[in-house]
Amino acid sequence: MNLRPEEISSIIKEQIKKYERKLDVVDVGTVIQVGDGIARIHGLENCMAGELLEFEGDVYGMALNLEEDNVGCVLLGSDENIKEGDVVKRTERIVEVPVGDPMIGRVVNALGQPIDGKGPINTDKFRPVESKATGVIARKSVSVPLQTGIKAIDSMIPIGRGQRELIIGDRQTGKTALAIDTIINQKGKDVICIYVAIGQKKSTVAKIAETLEQNDAMGYSIIVTAGASELAPLQYIAPYAGVTMAEEFMFNGKDVLIVYDDLSKHAVAYRTMSLLLKRPPGREAYPGDVFYLHSRLLERAARIDDKYGGGSITALPIIETLAGDISAYIPTNVISITDGQIFLESELFYAGQRPAVNAGLSVSRVGGSAQIKAMKKVSGTLRLDLGQYRELAAFAQFGSDLDPDTQATLAQGERIMEILKQPQYSPVPVEKQVMMIYAVTKKHLSDIPVEKITAFQDEFLGFMDNNYPEVGQKIIETQNLTEDIEAELIKAIEEFKANFKVTM
Ligand code: ATP
Ligand code: MG
Repeated sequence: MNLRPEEISSIIKEQIKKYERKLDVVDVGTVIQVGDGIARIHGLENCMAGELLEFEGDVYGMALNLEEDNVGCVLLGSDENIKEGDVVKRTERIVEVPVGDPMIGRVVNALGQPIDGKGPINTDKFRPVESKATGVIARKSVSVPLQTGIKAIDSMIPIGRGQRELIIGDRQTGKTALAIDTIINQKGKDVICIYVAIGQKKSTVAKIAETLEQNDAMGYSIIVTAGASELAPLQYIAPYAGVTMAEEFMFNGKDVLIVYDDLSKHAVAYRTMSLLLKRPPGREAYPGDVFYLHSRLLERAARIDDKYGGGSITALPIIETLAGDISAYIPTNVISITDGQIFLESELFYAGQRPAVNAGLSVSRVGGSAQIKAMKKVSGTLRLDLGQYRELAAFAQFGSDLDPDTQATLAQGERIMEILKQPQYSPVPVEKQVMMIYAVTKKHLSDIPVEKITAFQDEFLGFMDNNYPEVGQKIIETQNLTEDIEAELIKAIEEFKANFKVTM
């Protein structure tokens, strides 16, 4: 058979046309039902779970329910202009968000689009929001501290890079404040911070952005937000979008801190979405896979072995409880997924003990190995002292009727509680924490009245800065409190106390 070149090209063109048509037939479906931000689509047999689907008028959706004869899809935009019979195209891509350095310093929505009015983000790199968590082989154990700058936490509930530590407590107990202070404390520590706001008011998020800006923290932070007024699917995606951005940094060897504020609202958004998709409701009407919702998110926090990139993601999920009930459904789920929890208590908060950390119910299961030696040395007895204090606190009202031992335990406990108080936005560097905790645990403050402790602390740390800066420097250099440093510290404490007494 003899074919001329133009014939060959026309045959090929014909084939290509048919090829495209064939694709069209397979990869286009029609809307059979739409409403409440959900669309059911017929004819997308090969659609993937989590696939991005394109509707007419530039609206996108995410395929979630793959059923025998239809696909249930949540819309990531308004369903106003979508009607039955509309054509839906497959994109053959899982939902993706932009990642990389240009994201830093920006406030973005759940899809990674900027909403801070600072113009477009110039990034050409994308990652799918759902991905498999790092396997055990590529992981390394937690051994580098993530300093929160909060005395109560760094001393008793230390967090390591790569750890997942839950912040849990009732409404208005300082959960967000704790997370924001931790972000502020990462200044100059080479940690990129991502704050994911889920289901919060726009004004609250704006205030947080402003706070981070004022504390020079936006330069190394990203805010991802899906507000209370936004669609449930966007609130659902937001934390995955955040951790996806974090992963890009981690695989490039950077350390990342990510805050999910909060996962209670995230679970509620997922419940809304699932009920609309007609998935069977389970306990408290949450769908059966609500545990998987958070486990696959938090599993992506990791510390990677140097061979595989060497970065880390530290996750601080937040859970809101009702009346301090940490044994409710979602709280217990998340407690079981994380490596410990920081329990904040309303009672302490209203009594003026802020941050309102309940040391008895808070734990960190892996962070201890990341604590610097100096801190480990001085904080050893802290928990014990506080535990004894709490047990006896109820008797405090009997005052002088108590035996001297009990009185001493109470006096010591009161002083420790006072030392652990800390205002917002003022993280304390670890060497100063070590000096202060040393002073209180070694009973150097026993003769200082409780109401003077705060003043003592402020003035003492200033005094150390001005007169003995080398003590702090040596603690940082050696990461330890050697006998020599300890001797210098004792001398400084005594010298300061002599003067403090005079002015007291
Ligand atoms: P919500 O449940 O509304 O999210 P939350 O638990 O996140 O609340 P925050 O918003 O962080 O709590 O804090 C509640 C209030 O307590 C805020 O007004 C905050 O300024 C104040 N606050 C938090 N921590 C401290 C602190 N260490 N010292 C003084 N005030 C604090
Ligand atoms: Mg909050």
